[in-house]
Amino acid sequence: TNDNTTTSGLAFDIQLSDRRKTPQEREALLESPGFGQVFTDHMVSIRYTEGRGWHDAKLEPYGPLSLDPATSALHYAQEIFEGLKAYRHPDGSLASFRPEANAARFNRSAVRMAMPELPEDLFLKSIELLLEHDGDWVPTKPDFSLYLRPFMISTDVGLGVNHPSRTYVYLLIASPVGSYFSGGVKPVTVWLSKDFTRAAPGGTGAAKFAGNYAASFLAQAQAVEKGCDQVVWLDAREHRWVEEMGGMNLWFVFGSGENARLRTPPLTGTLLPGITRESLLTLAPELGIPAEEKPISTDEWREAAESGELTEVFACGTAAVITPVGFVKSDDGGFTVGDGTPGPVTLRLREELVGLQTGHRPDGHGWVTRF
Ligand code: PMP
Repeated sequence: TNDNTTTSGLAFDIQLSDRRKTPQEREALLESPGFGQVFTDHMVSIRYTEGRGWHDAKLEPYGPLSLDPATSALHYAQEIFEGLKAYRHPDGSLASFRPEANAARFNRSAVRMAMPELPEDLFLKSIELLLEHDGDWVPTKPDFSLYLRPFMISTDVGLGVNHPSRTYVYLLIASPVGSYFSGGVKPVTVWLSKDFTRAAPGGTGAAKFAGNYAASFLAQAQAVEKGCDQVVWLDAREHRWVEEMGGMNLWFVFGSGENARLRTPPLTGTLLPGITRESLLTLAPELGIPAEEKPISTDEWREAAESGELTEVFACGTAAVITPVGFVKSDDGGFTVGDGTPGPVTLRLREELVGLQTGHRPDGHGWVTRF
């Protein structure tokens, strides 16, 4: 019998690194790891071949891939990924937040990019194995975690573009991370992007597809040039409806105190269905804050901010959890949301969510998976 056999019947081969970092080296790297700069000792890989399915599953030393220059992913961008975190709970155990939701989204992205779906048990087993061997890399400091990056690339060699690749490799790597924005919970300034479009109806916006991010860098550079931290994407047709940020979904708080209520743009097929977004749709009403999915235009955003009806705006996602949006700029000028400082609803939801993820709040939803 083999403990590393999954319900899919695939057994993982374990190849341990002989270049593992020493505890001293690891602790030094965990001091201030930045975001996605430092990687653990191992990675997981699983190959796929049309007609044969998933095969050659292994845990192996983290290291470079060797790819033929004509590998299709390098030319036609069949690449999808996920992002989730492993946390060290107060009792020392390791846990992640809704990894089944990431597995499901990974497969929806795969379908959109004509790539094979990965059975959920393989996705979860890859995380379990990496944490079993690299668990010491999960930081203990508050606000620190181990960012997990599952991804898949096409590996057929050849330049034909008439059909999708017939071979793929799934990989899982992990990176200890501190706070995403170096300022911590500090309001960001956002740029409403009217020159560029992230996603169009029928396109790939709802998939966690590499090309969406490649297409965003120029707009992000423009936002920085305009003195902003992040881009806000608008709909492709009218550049009028708010969609999402570069790597986070957006939430709007109307009213305050007992009357506070939340709104987030609906999933139109052109924005990424964030797992944090979905969790807040459930969590906020339980805390007495109604939450609805309803479109918001840039005009309404400005008018409601100016009238004071809109009291807070924040962005949410795995990497930065919840980040307040303090200032908004566009070609038409700029305005402040609330008084520009993190509001009470933003901070309350952040505390609840972080509490759940890190094991400081009871998990009433079965969202926490222990490894
Ligand atoms: N939008 C985009 C474009 C993203 O890349 C992400 C990060 N995955 C999100 C939203 C937030 O999703 P999640 O809450 O699942 O991290």
